[in-house]
Amino acid sequence: MSSRTSGRRGLPASPDPLPIAVVDNHAHLDMTREGDEPFPIETAVAQARAVGVDRIVQVGCDLDGIAFTLDAVDRFPEVLGAVALHPNEVPRLAAAGRLSAAYDIVEQAATHERVRAIGETGLDYFRTGPEGRAVQQDGFRWHIDLTKRTGKALQIHDRDAHEDVLRILAEEGAPDRTVLHCFSGDAAMARECADRGYYLSFAGTVTFNNAAALREALIETPLDRILVETDAPYLTPMPHRGATNASYLVPLTIRGMARTLNLDVATLCQAVSDNSERVYGPWS
Ligand SMILES: [Zn+2]
Repeated sequence: MSSRTSGRRGLPASPDPLPIAVVDNHAHLDMTREGDEPFPIETAVAQARAVGVDRIVQVGCDLDGIAFTLDAVDRFPEVLGAVALHPNEVPRLAAAGRLSAAYDIVEQAATHERVRAIGETGLDYFRTGPEGRAVQQDGFRWHIDLTKRTGKALQIHDRDAHEDVLRILAEEGAPDRTVLHCFSGDAAMARECADRGYYLSFAGTVTFNNAAALREALIETPLDRILVETDAPYLTPMPHRGATNASYLVPLTIRGMARTLNLDVATLCQAVSDNSERVYGPWS
């Protein structure tokens, strides 16, 4: 495969490979954006590996996604898993009377040796209105407890809910390895999270033109707390904002972060790789 063309119509070309391989610590290989052709996991993994993204955490956050994740971690040495019920999924399942059966499935999936994180869980006040917040907060607390019982890492989704996420983590006691996925806070919140020992995962959003506050948060984050992710198929980095995202585009985010941090790319790659293995354990 040429490194300059993706072979898929409408997908951005592959960026230049990274000097040291890194981890995409949050991707949804099971999801396809509306209007897109499915992107087979074999292609996603191979295309990522070719540009130095040789490890991925696949996040299954509904029942179908969890089943996909368990299959993927068995078949691909490049893939580890995270499982949970997404904060927008919890109120839906509760309303349908299916929440406790779904929790049983998450618990069972969490026992898999290659499932290394519970996530994404947390709070989403953007998509879930006030009527769903109590059940969402209960769901968050349940997932924090499961993380501690299983000794896994925790991946948090926080959309427009910074204060309550930090409050509930403090009330419950955060697990040893806690990651704020797609970090969206400012420099003060980054400092607070770093002081608490959390990891901050930066997505393509950190490269957006209007993301100066997020770049200040990145600068505030100690190098040993920085992770990188796609949240594929969403949040595609510049200059491809709006296109479909996939793990092979992580080098664009990494290079943007290195510029912001005034670090050489290899130094940032090594840190991201080391931090990821500290959080999720070894891939092989
Ligand atoms: Zn996600």
